[in-house]
Formats: sequence, C-alpha cells, structure tokens
Amino acid sequence: MIRIDLHVHTVYSGDSTINPKLLVELLNANSTVRAVAITDHDTLEGYRHVKKLAKAYGELLIIPGIEVSTVEGHLIVLGVEEKPPYPLRAESLIDFAREREALLIVPHPYRVCGLGDFAKNLDVDAVEVLNFRASRFENELAKRLAQEMNLPGIAGTDAHRPDQLFKVYTEVYANPDLSSVLKAIKNGLVKTGDLKGYEFKY
Ligand SMILES: [Zn+2]
Ligand SMILES: [Zn+2]
Repeated sequence: MIRIDLHVHTVYSGDSTINPKLLVELLNANSTVRAVAITDHDTLEGYRHVKKLAKAYGELLIIPGIEVSTVEGHLIVLGVEEKPPYPLRAESLIDFAREREALLIVPHPYRVCGLGDFAKNLDVDAVEVLNFRASRFENELAKRLAQEMNLPGIAGTDAHRPDQLFKVYTEVYANPDLSSVLKAIKNGLVKTGDLKGYEFKY
C-alpha cells in the first residue's frame, strides 16, 4: 500500500506558491505520504522539474499529471507526459487520454471550475471525493456522484501552498510504481484518508 497526494500544484500552475525543490523536500520528510501526482493547470513543466529533483531520493514516486481546463470544466489526466492540444472539450480530452492509456479523474466536481453533473456523461475512471480545499458539502456531493457513477473515490489536497500539502491522501493498494498505481486506482483498490486533527472547512 502506498499513500499518495493525487492533486498538487507547483509554481508552474501560475497560481501556486509551491516550488518543486520544497515539494520534494517536504515529501521526503513526510512519513505518511510517499508519493504525489503533479497536476498543474495545463502544463507538465512542474512535473518535469519535480521528477528530476526527486531522483536524488530513490523511493519517492512522482506521478505525471495535468489538470486540464476543458470547455466544460477541470479534468485531471494521470500517466501522460505530453500536453493535449488546446482548446478542447472534455470528450476530446478523454479520447486523448484513452489513446495513451492514461487515467482520468474528475476533480472537485462541485467547486468552481468543476464539471458538476455533466461528469455523468463522461467515460472517466475516478472521482475526487475528498478535496482538501472543498467544503464538506461539496465533498459530500462528490461522493454521491462517485456512487452514482459507480466509480472509485480518491483524495487529493489540490494544494496551492506548502502548508496544504499531504493533508489528505489516497491509500492505493499497489506496488509503488506508476503502472501498478494507475491500474489499482482504476480497479478501485483505494481508500481516502486524512491526517488526524484535520477538519473540513465549511
Ligand atoms: Zn481544479
Ligand atoms: Zn487543482
């Protein structure tokens, strides 16, 4: 089992203050969360920097990802290292991801920029049911969406500041390598978790 923060933004997102070096250091120092997915807005630059820096720390798993601003709302693709062509509709992004055997996650469906109920029309793999920056109510709605779509629910902090990192995480029952992790998420071998003492915002 490996605990992963599946939703993290670096300074390359433009609206985050998390620099790659600090991120790698904080991850290395964290005894609970041992992996992150870098999901910057519409760029893989941050991932490339984090990946390079993490090489010095053998056992950290850095998952390539991108949070794409589709016409209809945000969608996260994990397991790709190339940027899709823009602008694009959610359906086209799904085709792009499927051609590359990537994983598709609906992040914060009921927060600003979320896909909302529109997600029900989409062929995706998981729903983010615990977003550290969403309210308890928004996360509740997301959980209901996952149940309705019969999809696994995952957790990610959506951290844009260092102090938000790793506050929630996804436990993935897989070996700590990229393909095992992606396959396990797809198969629902996941559980959401949060650090003790963490309280939802309202
Ligand atoms: Zn988003
Ligand atoms: Zn995000």
